[in-house]
Amino acid sequence: MSYSQNPVRLTDRPSEIKQTAGRDALGSFAPKFAELNDDVLFGQVWSRTDKLSLRDRSIVTVTALVSSGIIDSSLTYHLKEARKNGVTRTEIAEILTQIAFYAGWPKAWGAFRQATEVWKDVTDADDARAAFGQEMIFPIGDPNDAYAKYFTGQSYLAPVSSEQINIANVTFEPGCRNNWHIHHADKGGGQLLVCVAGRGWYQEWGKPARELHPGDVVNIPANVKHWHGAAKDSWFAHLAMSPDGENTSNEWLEPVTDEEYGRL
Ligand code: MN
Repeated sequence: MSYSQNPVRLTDRPSEIKQTAGRDALGSFAPKFAELNDDVLFGQVWSRTDKLSLRDRSIVTVTALVSSGIIDSSLTYHLKEARKNGVTRTEIAEILTQIAFYAGWPKAWGAFRQATEVWKDVTDADDARAAFGQEMIFPIGDPNDAYAKYFTGQSYLAPVSSEQINIANVTFEPGCRNNWHIHHADKGGGQLLVCVAGRGWYQEWGKPARELHPGDVVNIPANVKHWHGAAKDSWFAHLAMSPDGENTSNEWLEPVTDEEYGRL
């Protein structure tokens, strides 16, 4: 199960859209139309993702179809594509509401009947996570099950680099934080955080917590007890890097209590 509802990422952005619908439906009846549909409209125009993202192209296309009153299987196809291209349930609801005033109320009703089907399995939590995913260029990744016992709340982990320096993107849902812990090392080591999206906290034992925003860098010395995580009302993500050191190990300690966290 992939938690990345938006596949249009720097790392896997498609260079060309493969479309066969034209040839499948009309290849023998209207070969030229099929060719224009598959090779020009999709192969050339939709594929110009360096000029306009697939997500934006989906929004434009859905808007054009609904405005023209085309509420048929082609709209269903383009709503499904819009979802694949990263349009969230909340966003499609806003888009169709906006269209309704300019294109006509009954057209929006028709489109909503289809959209509710296309996005029917998306929960509020899925939608919030997908929306947060659009704020950052790094993926959210998968549930951080291996370390879940050292976290309060749900976190996600996406490997970014496994060569030279190990880098992972760690995403925290609102209220999620890791336990107090220590990155031990005899020399070097510690941890480097680079905040990429949302709002969070970093705290060293015995010191006031530091509020974190995108672009902030946290240099965590080895052997210092600390925790990091999201604000209670915001998603948060940081890259975590582990500098080389001698005799490195991580020691996981007690959770940050609701009382401590609640005082922030
Ligand atoms: Mn740490």
